[in-house]
Amino acid sequence: MTQALLSGKTALVTGSTSGIGLGIARTLAAQGANILFNGFGDAQEIEQLHQGVAQEFGVKTAYHGADMSKPEQIADMIAYADQTFGGVDILVNNAGIQFVAPIDQFPVEKWDAILAINLSSAFHTTRLALPGMKAKNWGRIINIASVHGLVASAEKSAYVAAKHGLVGLTKVTALENAHTGITCNAICPGWVLTPLVQKQVDARAAKDGTSIEAAKKALLSEKQPSGEFVTPEELGALAVFFCSPAGDQVRGVAWNMDGGWVAQ
Ligand code: NAD
Repeated sequence: MTQALLSGKTALVTGSTSGIGLGIARTLAAQGANILFNGFGDAQEIEQLHQGVAQEFGVKTAYHGADMSKPEQIADMIAYADQTFGGVDILVNNAGIQFVAPIDQFPVEKWDAILAINLSSAFHTTRLALPGMKAKNWGRIINIASVHGLVASAEKSAYVAAKHGLVGLTKVTALENAHTGITCNAICPGWVLTPLVQKQVDARAAKDGTSIEAAKKALLSEKQPSGEFVTPEELGALAVFFCSPAGDQVRGVAWNMDGGWVAQ
């Protein structure tokens, strides 16, 4: 039997109890990586989720409930990864939230929360995981940005600012480690049908007085030429490519997987 591509590596995927993070965690586990899960949710369901992944793919899994808006809890999670797995080899900065409102009506606390969770958390995980990666001279840092790290949409000031910031952080991290075995890249998804987007679909259906299906179509037709949602599994496959030897010299890219969104 050939060895799985990522066997012996440990991946920390922030915000992996749901949506894209969960899809990426499962795809990395399928390649043999141990997974440290993070994110919110029902304690019992999370326990079942991570034990289920361990059983399904024959890898080691654990969970840490750090709130990604709290630097001291992030530090505790990285220390836990060191104790439990001997460090983080693959860091996927995925946790994120959304809030939609015009700038002059944007709640200050929502701005602060989006910047903390969608941007500053990646600075903290990166600064804390890098020493361990440097010691091994191997690491992969994958920042889940968004098409909104490349282009803007109205009413998403905090989200667009945070995601553009995350693409910038990606480039700096890539450059500072360019002479090492540590790479850093961003993935920029278009619409993916996760709980985060379902909320926007529901809000749109309520506002327009249409069905959920009609709201999904309207959402896609505005921005995403394919008319299809991107899937967490497709994004996971791109993460696996970044982790493979073929990805050794892919450094500092912001790779959109978006059904053609930013080609327009
Ligand atoms: P989701 O709501 O399904 O999942 C978000 C995850 O982050 C959950 O596990 C949640 O518990 C966790 N989380 C939220 N706040 C947290 C906090 N303070 N501390 C720790 N964990 C926290 O959303 P998703 O659509 O899967 O989004 C994942 C990432 O992908 C986000 O960064 C989002 O901006 C990005 N993204 C999503 C889309 C999309 O269309 N869904 C498109 C582009 C980018």
